[in-house]
Amino acid sequence: MAEIQLRNVCKRWGGFVGVDDFDLRIADREFLVLLGPSGCGKTTTMRMIAGLEDPSDGEIWIGDRKVNQLEPKDRDVAMVFQSYALYPNLNVYENIRFPLKVRGVDPSTHDEKVRRASAMVELDEFLHRRPAELSGGQRQRVALARAIVREPNVFLMDEPLSNLDAKLRVSTRAQIKNLSHELKVTTIYVTHDQIEAMTLADRVVVMEKGVVQQVGSPTEIYDNPANTFVASFIGSPAMNLIEGEMAGGSFSAPRTRIEGLPAPSGKVTLGFRAEDARVVESGGQIEAPIYTLELLGDATMVTVRIGGALVSVRADKTFRAEIDDMVSIEVPPDHCHLFDGQTGQRIA
Ligand code: ATP
Repeated sequence: MAEIQLRNVCKRWGGFVGVDDFDLRIADREFLVLLGPSGCGKTTTMRMIAGLEDPSDGEIWIGDRKVNQLEPKDRDVAMVFQSYALYPNLNVYENIRFPLKVRGVDPSTHDEKVRRASAMVELDEFLHRRPAELSGGQRQRVALARAIVREPNVFLMDEPLSNLDAKLRVSTRAQIKNLSHELKVTTIYVTHDQIEAMTLADRVVVMEKGVVQQVGSPTEIYDNPANTFVASFIGSPAMNLIEGEMAGGSFSAPRTRIEGLPAPSGKVTLGFRAEDARVVESGGQIEAPIYTLELLGDATMVTVRIGGALVSVRADKTFRAEIDDMVSIEVPPDHCHLFDGQTGQRIA
């Protein structure tokens, strides 16, 4: 069993708060992704779980053990980092075997374990090569195999795909998801890439400035972002956000008037996703000149400017217009999200 609990965990350096009151129970075998922009505290959280950083406050539990005082090597976690420091003078076989030697695992079991781990990441053919003779993706897989070979209860992965090209990222991503399922381990995975988070996670933790903004399944976070930060961080393109005013159930902003919304009067930020709105001949709730047009292959992304905000809508791939042409956009009220104009928190 490797349930992980973070109980009110904080990390401070002097007056600076790197991680603030992180409180979460991660289920045995769950795939949890920590997502957020650079500097939000993802790596620090991970390093505290690994034992590489001491929390300033709070408790960390792995299974039924409080691990605050345990050395990293005694925590039964294996880590894969973005810089996967392989030993350049050892071949792939010896690199993968290394953790077994260090940990004093019975040498008669090494060969079978190394071969099993390398087969899982499809490295069998490369066992005799040195790291310099491998591609970036192959090196990354050696790092994965080196984590797998230890048969840990917990995998900690910090941006393990960031050195790979786009195509290799997608295939290695699928491999990681499959491995974590097959090995039945609890995985905590750090990324600032929301697509990686959405495709891998059972649950996503969205962080900003050391503070957890929302925890939920990818669908929950996509469909019901807790605040404007989460709304603007998740989705490609991000949710459209327009600042305006509610009065009598109607939302007004420059070039925009949307009726039939369930929110009290006052300053609000209205959000909707590009795929939920459409370009119409006339009579839409937004009328604005085109700022830019992007061909996506299966659709055309039409972007207009409203006040200071850019608002994008998916149109048919046959849609034809020029920059500065006026377009009319229909936004179904039941696909609108409303956030408090001051705090950014969801109100409807
Ligand atoms: P990235 O995606 O860029 O790796 P991150 O979300 O992983 O970012 P962390 O590395 O956890 O961010 O850092 C969180 C904050 O804590 C940052 O503002 C960072 O500058 C600060 N920080 C990290 N380590 C220290 C340290 N040893 N002393 C002081 N501040 C630190």
